[in-house]
Amino acid sequence: MSPHHYFTGLFRRFRTFVLKREVEIIGQCRLCGNCCHDILLHDGGRFIKREKQFKKLCKGNSAFTRFRIIKPDDEGLLTFSCSFQDKNNICTSYEDRLSLCKEYPSKGFYYRGGGLGTDCGFSYKAVTFRDIYMRRRRSRIPEFSEVLRQEQEQTDK
Ligand code: SF4
Ligand code: SF4
Repeated sequence: MSPHHYFTGLFRRFRTFVLKREVEIIGQCRLCGNCCHDILLHDGGRFIKREKQFKKLCKGNSAFTRFRIIKPDDEGLLTFSCSFQDKNNICTSYEDRLSLCKEYPSKGFYYRGGGLGTDCGFSYKAVTFRDIYMRRRRSRIPEFSEVLRQEQEQTDK
């Protein structure tokens, strides 16, 4: 796992633990098929970096042999294409696709530090420390109308 993904995942898990707010997955699939190439695969929660790790994954589950190594990404994680995707980005084995395909985008992927493409119809929605800070701040600041009402009451006395 790259340091970036590792620390991002760690931070996200820590924030969820502290704020007790699970990430939500919102939106819907646009059926673009873009998540079926430049795929990151993981084994036991760790993204695959080496061909040796990928071979071990395939040995444990031959269904993974459908994937082909493209190249390492900027962070040194191997990216994969899927031989079951046709030239129109359509899955030719939709009924038998892997659980990782069915569950994409999963919360597990988010908590491992993964991110979605900008063109994906889904997005992750997480409550941040800033959100909590702003909510608390807002709840302490009275509405202008409330201040006005109080001022009015004071002058009426
Ligand atoms: S099996 Fe189908 S859904 Fe899964 S990555 Fe390959 S083309 Fe995509
Ligand atoms: S990239 Fe997102 S919108 Fe496109 S097929 Fe995959 S899940 Fe659906």
